[in-house]
Amino acid sequence: MTKNWRRLVNVSMCLLVLLLVVGCGSNAAKPAEPEVKKIKVVTTMYPVYEFVKQVGGDKVDVVMLIPPGAEPHDWEPTAKDIIQIKSAKIFAYHGADFEPVEKLLHKDVLGDALPIEVSKDVKKLEAKHAEEEEEEHGHEHGDSHDEHKFDPHAWLDPIAVQQEIKTIEQALATVDEKNADYYKQNAETYNKKLAELDEQYKKALAGITRKEIVTSHRAFGYLANRYGFEQLGIMGLSPDAEPTPDRMAKITEFCREHKVKYIFFETVTSPKLAQTLAKETGAELLVLNPIESLTEQEMKDGKNYLTIMGENLVNLQKALK
Ligand code: ZN
Repeated sequence: MTKNWRRLVNVSMCLLVLLLVVGCGSNAAKPAEPEVKKIKVVTTMYPVYEFVKQVGGDKVDVVMLIPPGAEPHDWEPTAKDIIQIKSAKIFAYHGADFEPVEKLLHKDVLGDALPIEVSKDVKKLEAKHAEEEEEEHGHEHGDSHDEHKFDPHAWLDPIAVQQEIKTIEQALATVDEKNADYYKQNAETYNKKLAELDEQYKKALAGITRKEIVTSHRAFGYLANRYGFEQLGIMGLSPDAEPTPDRMAKITEFCREHKVKYIFFETVTSPKLAQTLAKETGAELLVLNPIESLTEQEMKDGKNYLTIMGENLVNLQKALK
């Protein structure tokens, strides 16, 4: 009798425990899974935005302050931009004299955001001015209308970008330690793609016969330096640095003398000067994209840093043959 009674108690205890377990389980599942908060990263220009997205994957929420199609050299942060920066965990900018950071790197702008100069470990090229380029020696420094100390366009060199990717990885791992391995994995994957891109460029440009390209603004210094050619820019390091009539005449003369077949223009800035030059010298126009900003159409078409670097290579090969 007592045995049976004990058994009954045991069975009901088990049932009770089971009910409790099931009950708890269903209770916990009820409130819709609280979404894991993503790390908010505010970036300035397209390349920084793209590189942060590649490393951060689905753990980050990336904002790009400079809108598609805008010319980023003359970007001035708005009050709205500053509100965005303040609410971020990381504020990533390219640096090397590209953005007006002296206005941004203050406690009252940053709030708790960690500021990251993506190009901080890249070996910078010094800004060369058009006049120096022609004369190459002598010439006083420091009297330029161009305020750059460095050439900022490091993102056009895939090897420099590998360094930038590492810097981004470290920053993300600092603010989000538990996902450090995830960021490392993504960084390695993207850096492999950059290594392949570098191989493509080396192979394709190994047998070039020409040494100069003529570009709209002087955005291709790092690229030219990496793969052994030179750029002659109609405009300066910034596309708003218009050439003097004298400079324009010299470039025209250069194109005629060297029988330049192609003049490069860009997708975002005005092609007017490139068109004029092409007309005067009988050259054809081709796009060489400095990837400073993608147009909305390019975004819609699913283009990105790697695909555009590929397109640039096709046109470079044509011009350097
Ligand atoms: Zn530029």
